[in-house]
Amino acid sequence: MTSIEWANLKAHELRALAANNAVVIVPVAAMEQHGPHLPVQVDSRLVTEVSHRAAHKAQGDRPTVVLPVIWTGLSEHHMPFGGTITFDYQTLFSVFRCIVDSVRRHGFTDVLILNGHGGNIDASKLIAQDLTLDFSEMTVVAATYWLEAASRLGPLLEDQSNVLHAGEAETSMMLRLEPDLVDDSDLASHRTDADLSFLTTGEGSFRWRNLTAVTANGVLGDPSTATAAKGEQLLEASSDAISELITNPFTWALTPDLRGEGTGDVPFRR
Ligand SMILES: [Zn+2]
Repeated sequence: MTSIEWANLKAHELRALAANNAVVIVPVAAMEQHGPHLPVQVDSRLVTEVSHRAAHKAQGDRPTVVLPVIWTGLSEHHMPFGGTITFDYQTLFSVFRCIVDSVRRHGFTDVLILNGHGGNIDASKLIAQDLTLDFSEMTVVAATYWLEAASRLGPLLEDQSNVLHAGEAETSMMLRLEPDLVDDSDLASHRTDADLSFLTTGEGSFRWRNLTAVTANGVLGDPSTATAAKGEQLLEASSDAISELITNPFTWALTPDLRGEGTGDVPFRR
């Protein structure tokens, strides 16, 4: 079977994938503290796994190829705990712009930014918007894997309704993928009862906060409820959702033009 990993392919194989209208997944995550029990690579490791599984599943319907993960994201709010490397937004955008422009010049038109880090959620949407405006022949879609899979992940979890930083879900998936990197000797002591509304004020307004505002050890939730079996289910459900996103023609459809008679012929980006 041909690899779905860009880095493993030869240039002529990638030219053929462009000619076959393959989707390019650009995973992006973080290198940041994940409490006392998990390594700093968690988000990058997990989004890489979800990307690879999703590409294999989508492959029959739509050729898909996965670039290596952008392993640094926007992690300023984790810096006080140590172990964390962060970009600023301008740098993250510039990295994406160069990568997407490169794949565009090779003939690919459909790019999925697959995000695996909470601090990148808003930024990845803005990057998708700005790159669509910059490269009008391209469709750039931004997804955060656990938000795309939210309805499937909730029923698999007991302590939380979706992925939380270093909690049940992330610890489960790491126990499945990298058990030697998880210190599971005292998971119950790492539990926190963080108030997850800490980024909002008023009726729904945003204010930036360090993670130190809600957790003493860098964990959100209860990692002691994690199991490797649950991790496998979470990875499968997440990659199912991303595969379906990729193979759904609506994801890549051009913007409809519903303007009526007399609205003029002002050009716009489709
Ligand atoms: Zn994480």
